Amino acid sequence: MLLNREITLFSDFVHITYLIVIEKEVRKYLDEDGFLSKAIKEFERRPQQIAMAEAVGKVFDEEHHLIVEAGTGTGKSLAYLVPAILWAIKFNKKVVVSTYTKTLQEQLLYHDIPLLYEKLKIPFRYALCLGHENYLSLRRLKRASQAGLFTMAEEDNQMEAIFDWVGETQNGTKGDLPFEPLSSVWEDVGRQKDLCLGKNCETYSTCYYFKERKRWFGAHLLIVNHHLFFANVASNGAVLPRFDAVIFDEAQN
Ligand code: SF4
Repeated sequence: MLLNREITLFSDFVHITYLIVIEKEVRKYLDEDGFLSKAIKEFERRPQQIAMAEAVGKVFDEEHHLIVEAGTGTGKSLAYLVPAILWAIKFNKKVVVSTYTKTLQEQLLYHDIPLLYEKLKIPFRYALCLGHENYLSLRRLKRASQAGLFTMAEEDNQMEAIFDWVGETQNGTKGDLPFEPLSSVWEDVGRQKDLCLGKNCETYSTCYYFKERKRWFGAHLLIVNHHLFFANVASNGAVLPRFDAVIFDEAQN
């Protein structure tokens, strides 16, 4: 069962579950003369951050749960990311980090994790997991344009813009579009589970959703939101790849 190895973070909280010999390792990264201090000029040693990282490391080492309430300025994201990455790499594990807000998810994805990736010099892999409906379906896009489904000029303009964007986007997600699509447009071009042909689809080999899912399976860290995490629980693990530990940040939400 997944939940017997979970790490729960309440935003200001972290509840963890699981672990190994990481407790002693984290100081090498977060202490005054640690790797991050040497690599990042403005890095500041924070005793509470080190204490939290050691507690998280211990949980990974001993395979149990932990709840942490971290005050402002603790640097809680690094306090759980560093031990999680070390553990995942050392023991070939997969850790899910679940957030409630998009703001925190973006901070992790576009700041904290890339920073660690660059500075730790550890080749870990990470991926953002979104619900399937967030991905463009190339087959449905083609069908929608052939069928001439739209009556409004704005819909046609958005369709054209989506065609242009297909050549640029890496992941084909709605959030990657430079504009908010009309619901009438996205409903006709987004992935719909019941209409997806999977391996029988003519565009399966280039399908954004399935390409992204492959990345999820190879990643050490998966970034999700609470909604997707519990959709996975409700579907008996059908949404996410099998994982070894979970950290809930903003767990009070
Ligand atoms: S595999 Fe499914 S989601 Fe992907 S393009 Fe084909 S129908 Fe759309």
